[in-house]
Amino acid sequence: MQLYSTKHISPNVTFEEAIFRGLPPDNGLYMPTAIPSLPTNFVENLENYTFPEIAYQVAECLLSDEIPQEVLKEIIEDAVNFDAPLVELEKNVFVLELFHGPSLAFKDFGARFMARVMSYYLQKSTKNINILVATSGDTGGAVALGFLNTPGINVTILYPSGKVSELQEKQLTTLGGNITALEIDGTFDDCQAMVKQAFLDQTLAQNLNLSSANSINIARLIPQSFYYFHAIAQLKRKKLNLPVVFSVPSGNFGNLGAGLIAKKMGLPVNHYVASTNANDIIPQYLETGIFSPRASIKTISNAMDVGNPSNFARMADLYQDDVASIRNDISGYKITDEETEDAIEKVLAQFNYMMCPHTAVAYLGLHKYLITSPPALGVLLATAHPSKFVNELKPEIAAKVTVPENMQKLMQREKKSIKMGNSFAELKKYLTSNNL
Ligand SMILES: *Cc1c(COP(=O)(O)O)cnc(C)c1O
Repeated sequence: MQLYSTKHISPNVTFEEAIFRGLPPDNGLYMPTAIPSLPTNFVENLENYTFPEIAYQVAECLLSDEIPQEVLKEIIEDAVNFDAPLVELEKNVFVLELFHGPSLAFKDFGARFMARVMSYYLQKSTKNINILVATSGDTGGAVALGFLNTPGINVTILYPSGKVSELQEKQLTTLGGNITALEIDGTFDDCQAMVKQAFLDQTLAQNLNLSSANSINIARLIPQSFYYFHAIAQLKRKKLNLPVVFSVPSGNFGNLGAGLIAKKMGLPVNHYVASTNANDIIPQYLETGIFSPRASIKTISNAMDVGNPSNFARMADLYQDDVASIRNDISGYKITDEETEDAIEKVLAQFNYMMCPHTAVAYLGLHKYLITSPPALGVLLATAHPSKFVNELKPEIAAKVTVPENMQKLMQREKKSIKMGNSFAELKKYLTSNNL
């Protein structure tokens, strides 16, 4: 697999180079030069494969010239060791639950796969690397748990102070070992800008062997395509044969980007719904044809509070910047906090099903689309377990959320973070003086 930069200035690289660099020097994003199609025989018989088997087939199709088959099989079996069940909510509406991993969010797929792939490549050398990652909440927990105790890898996580939930904060700040949390006095966009600047700083990047673990890293994106195929496999087992629509609750658009790659590889999907909160940069782009990033707005679905969705560059490239063909495949809807709260309450009352705020955004986006579309099977992606967002729920709803046992233990652990302002100078000083 060769990867190019979406800015088309930096040279092409191998997969190994792309995952350790994270970002190309020209500040674009890495994308595969070619996206291969899966064998038709496999796609037509998805229902006969288990989730890890599906994940392996998809990974192998992309990475067969990068990682030996037996190694890739082991990586997949270790990384994809929890299910993504499809739960029927209403007639022809299904929830794909992506929150059964260790951090209770879909980001576990990307983080666990990436940690194991990096670990495989690092076995061949003696170098240590430093992962630097910005989180709006969920990335940090998944990366911390995914990389905990991985030899040769230190992880530094930047998160916006006061803007992540208590449980998320505990996942970032209580593990210790090779994981350090920097509590930034600023927004997620500030954190992301600081991380981006660190990568562009030649001396830092070289002296510290910096690597990223944000959704901009191609190793995070690839495993997020696995579960779209697994969803179709589960629908096929139910003998349901209408066209399929996926609603993806989106912030930085890594999840939806992975879905688009899956479609290129042969996923039988009819349409995608980009469901956002008030940070509706992509729904606006779909309406006007103009991509205009802006400062992020704080909402109750805070893992999607992104004002400048990085993965837009990848989406645009997949469609050669042609808005009309993007509109063919994707519809966008903006959902308010009020609508989100209402939907959580209604779905709980009507179906006895508890959604996290992000999942509720996907639920509403899906319904807005389905009202106007021909009959379809709707699949909404449930990206987090509601217990991660109890602070964002109304108290009477929050009281009904069950906190999984491993999370209850985590809540009792002591928070350890390093407080910092939102300037790159401060981050640089910290990274240099701590000589990681
Ligand atoms: C990160 C996250 C999202 C947004 O995913 P993107 O790939 O950034 O679009 C949605 N929901 C939850 C719970 C998340 O953690």
